[in-house]
Amino acid sequence: MSGKPKVAICWLGGCGGCDEAVVDINEAILKVVEAVDLVLWPVALDFKYHHVEAMQDGEIALSIINGHVRNSDQEEVAKLLRKKSQLVLAFGACACFGGTPGMANLITKEDIFDWVYRDAPTVVNPKGNRPQPKFSSDGKELTLPEFYNQVYSLKQIIDVDYYLPGCPPPPDLIMNAVTAVLEGKLPPKGSTLTPHKALCDTCPRNKTKPSRIGIKDIKRIHEIEAEPNTCFLVQGVLCLGPATRSGCGEACININIPCRGCFGPIEGVEDSGAKFVSALAAIIDVESEEDTKRVIDGIDDPVGYLYRFTMPTSILRKKRV
Ligand code: SF4
Ligand code: SF4
Repeated sequence: MSGKPKVAICWLGGCGGCDEAVVDINEAILKVVEAVDLVLWPVALDFKYHHVEAMQDGEIALSIINGHVRNSDQEEVAKLLRKKSQLVLAFGACACFGGTPGMANLITKEDIFDWVYRDAPTVVNPKGNRPQPKFSSDGKELTLPEFYNQVYSLKQIIDVDYYLPGCPPPPDLIMNAVTAVLEGKLPPKGSTLTPHKALCDTCPRNKTKPSRIGIKDIKRIHEIEAEPNTCFLVQGVLCLGPATRSGCGEACININIPCRGCFGPIEGVEDSGAKFVSALAAIIDVESEEDTKRVIDGIDDPVGYLYRFTMPTSILRKKRV
């Protein structure tokens, strides 16, 4: 027994970038590893789930869980860690809101299986086999996790104590979150461990906004040579800064790319897409209904643009069939 707080890091559905982001804290990771007793980190350490199952309930001080939940295995692991942990941190956009995999909620599970096991040009599947949760052969039974009808964020499956959004979260906020846990200086349960402002409030381009923006056309970022110091909205390019939480250090803006919203809705807002639509309505500067339609039609894939990271926790949630 080391006496250090036990910490688990776990990756459910997702690309693995959040697990890598933990390593991005560079040499500070040595301090973290010294201060805590890592009891689970499947990508890096050889602990098994049965080691966690053998622990007392609440024995883990903090579970840092990244990724969304789309199958029964991910749900089981999330529930196991919840049971064994005093605190659960939803880490990254997928855990907080469903993330980019949540866009799959716009199609059905059957659509996905049709493409993956029948229609994709590289598929050779003459018998039309599909994965089954249970399969018996020669008296033996094999099982696979059940694939769910939709993507869920972590809080839709288990109780979550804190949230750290981002795709992935930046190193400074990761360190702040871990330090707050180690020092017991945490804000109220349910808090998001970021600044509570909108990205526009911290963006250096905000000062280039006139008192009233009026746009007559919407352009995509690749269609113009964006001026590197002027607000994207002023240039007619959609930037989700007005509806997105700050804390990323304007990572995309600094490389002349508009914000796509990976930090999720600003404090007190449930649906960042709806919030942005209301901001957009105030800056479209055309008179006729026809022109308004033309401007709106200029948004290629509006649902995909506005809910790229947040579909499962948005008002829309999923495609209704
Ligand atoms: S809309 Fe985008 S570019 Fe403009 S101030 Fe906000 S975050 Fe910055
Ligand atoms: S600018 Fe927007 S999309 Fe880019 S990292 Fe920040 S919150 Fe995420």
